[in-house]
Amino acid sequence: MLSFQPSEEQEALMEMAARFTRERIIPIAAQCDQEARFPKEVFDAAWELGLVNATVEEKYGGAGLGELNNALIAEQLAYGCTGIQTSMLSNTLALTPIILAGSESQKKKYLGMMTEAPLLASYCTTEPSGGSDVAGLQTRFTKKGNDYVINGEKCWITNASFASFFIVFATCDPTLRHKGIAAFIVDADSPGVKVGKHEDKLGQRASDTATVHFDDVLVPGENLLAGPGEGFKLAMETFNQTRPDIGAMATGLMQRCLDESVAYAKQRRSFGQAIIEHQMVQAMIADMAIGCEATRLLYQKAAWNLDNGVRSPIVSSYAKAFGADTAMQTSIDAVQVFGGNGYVKDYPVEKLMRDAKVLQIYEGTSQIQRLVIARTLSR
Ligand SMILES: Cc1cc2nc3c(=O)[nH]c(=O)nc-3n(C[C@H](O)[C@H](O)[C@H](O)COP(=O)(O)OP(=O)(O)OC[C@H]3O[C@@H](n4cnc5c(N)ncnc54)[C@H](O)[C@@H]3O)c2cc1C
Repeated sequence: MLSFQPSEEQEALMEMAARFTRERIIPIAAQCDQEARFPKEVFDAAWELGLVNATVEEKYGGAGLGELNNALIAEQLAYGCTGIQTSMLSNTLALTPIILAGSESQKKKYLGMMTEAPLLASYCTTEPSGGSDVAGLQTRFTKKGNDYVINGEKCWITNASFASFFIVFATCDPTLRHKGIAAFIVDADSPGVKVGKHEDKLGQRASDTATVHFDDVLVPGENLLAGPGEGFKLAMETFNQTRPDIGAMATGLMQRCLDESVAYAKQRRSFGQAIIEHQMVQAMIADMAIGCEATRLLYQKAAWNLDNGVRSPIVSSYAKAFGADTAMQTSIDAVQVFGGNGYVKDYPVEKLMRDAKVLQIYEGTSQIQRLVIARTLSR
């Protein structure tokens, strides 16, 4: 049985998230972008309302809302600023490996910590030598008695300057590639953990992104999340769970492009009429609407599959790749609808265009999504 009707609870959740976006995110988004400042106070307020960490089960203090509801929230918040929303969703990215593979005591400690206070966490696969080839990562771990020692450098880590802990993927031997990769929970205050350079980004500047160094970091044995080989599978399964959220963010960004473009095109005039009367402007606006609605359906299907035990990494990749690529084109078109006014910071669409680009890069580039899709189809 198919239904596209949100439940009353889902309607209420989306309305709450939309109100939060109007009242708390939109008014400060442009300034945070200019200052490259992550507004922790906005995160705290969203946490109070239960708009972050939504997938954490009730027994660990979360709302247990599931993947679809989490994505519905993401779409609404992303309408205001995908930079701020990226930091909120990076918590989900960091908590998902614990939800998927954590022991009972790891879940109680680390999921519980995040639901007791408005804390942030980070997920660390990418390294200076590359992010697409996760199996090629170089950060090393060695065993020391029952514990582990980690050495290496991770880069592009969202929330790094604010994180209470890091999910770190490291290898016992890089020549083993995916078979050597394990996953650890590393407390941010462990000796040897040092947050480095803060990235000065093109877009999504309101999200914190930095390098993290791990120099002889002693990790207790109880913080091993997944052993050699299992760590790589866990990284891939985590992306399967979180890629629909990128589709949701892309949808929020496209809806904003569409709303801003329609409003502008109705009042801007050329050749004696509103520009929305020109067929070529209409075509751009119609394409925005098609892309937005198609991505919405894709991310909702991918997230519904996750909630209902239907295994479909390929649909998660469809939602991520199609959403990211369509959001990029949609934001370019939004700037075009605004003409010269689209090219300056006095109007909101130049930020949307800068923010859209990274959707095609993080959590697996658009090329990597196509690899996943083609490999799945060829099997
Ligand atoms: C703002 C931001 C936030 C981020 N947050 C995080 C985070 O929290 N945690 C984290 O671990 N990482 C994070 N990343 C890193 C991100 O996941 C990587 O940038 C991404 O995976 C790509 O890796 P790379 O930059 O090393 O590019 P590379 O892997 O060097 O790729 C460069 C180009 O080559 C293409 N390419 C590579 N291999 C192939 C192939 N086999 N076939 C076809 N094309 C290929 C890529 O698509 C890309 O176009 C973030 C990045 C950014 C920009």
